[in-house]
Amino acid sequence: MDLGLKDRVVIVAASSQGIGRATAEAFAAEGCKLAICARSTQTLRLLAATIAGKHHVPVHCEGLDVGDAAAVRQFVGNVANRFGGVDVCVTNAGGPPAKGFLATTAEDWQQAVEQNLLSVVHFARAVVPLMQRKKWGRLITITSLTVKQPVDQLVLSNAVRSGVVGLVKSLANEFGPDGITVNNVGPGYTATGRLKELARAQAQAAEVAEEEIFARWAAASPLRRIARPEEVADAIVWLASERASFITGQTLLVDGGAYKGL
Ligand code: NAD
Repeated sequence: MDLGLKDRVVIVAASSQGIGRATAEAFAAEGCKLAICARSTQTLRLLAATIAGKHHVPVHCEGLDVGDAAAVRQFVGNVANRFGGVDVCVTNAGGPPAKGFLATTAEDWQQAVEQNLLSVVHFARAVVPLMQRKKWGRLITITSLTVKQPVDQLVLSNAVRSGVVGLVKSLANEFGPDGITVNNVGPGYTATGRLKELARAQAQAAEVAEEEIFARWAAASPLRRIARPEEVADAIVWLASERASFITGQTLLVDGGAYKGL
């Protein structure tokens, strides 16, 4: 299947590891011009060189915090100057800490809103005008299964990410006439560093071993396993492609069927 993505300019935020990294690599494999960011510049530089060497595509990288509006604006501007615009923007960030409600602090809530909701706003404000100029664009947010089905010990994620879904639907409505699609991808349990942190929190709360938590997550999916980051990345790349040209305003769960609703 020709995804029609070759030479597209693609931003993947928070992409030094995990799902973001797998997504960046998947776009590079399609021949896209890539821009990646995360807080650690050193790790990013190494990764950018690895991806550029493997896939023979230009890779722009910058160290920044996705919750910093000015830094995001500057990053997007630099990408547009270097590559002549932005076609695809995938927003991502680290997940909020795994806690039950009474253990959360006011700072946790502030941080979760900045990192997991406002970061999407910052990227959208910067990339939408560039996409409007081209009359083509793809904005894809990475959230979580929690937007459909709350997960224990993830009250921050359960609450804050719903705002992203409201934003996605609003942006899809407002900017569809400009040829821009806006969609949300909700990963289920996926084998990354983030999942180990959640396993630790849930194991402590339930007083069981971490292995037991992983076994429960696998059992929750009809496929009886957790995802590989590459499986989430493939769904994101497809949504960004010409093959998903009439899909907008949607949440696509990549959760192996873990969500129990219809
Ligand atoms: P991860 O912790 O493995 O990777 C997160 C990436 O984001 C890293 O590259 C990190 O450096 C970067 N990052 C974190 N905070 C940042 C910030 N403020 N500014 C810039 N970069 C930042 O996480 P992951 O498992 O790949 O998850 C990605 C997203 O998907 C997270 O929001 C996570 O909560 C969500 N999610 C993950 C799972 C899962 O099972 N792994 C399930 C559902 C949702």
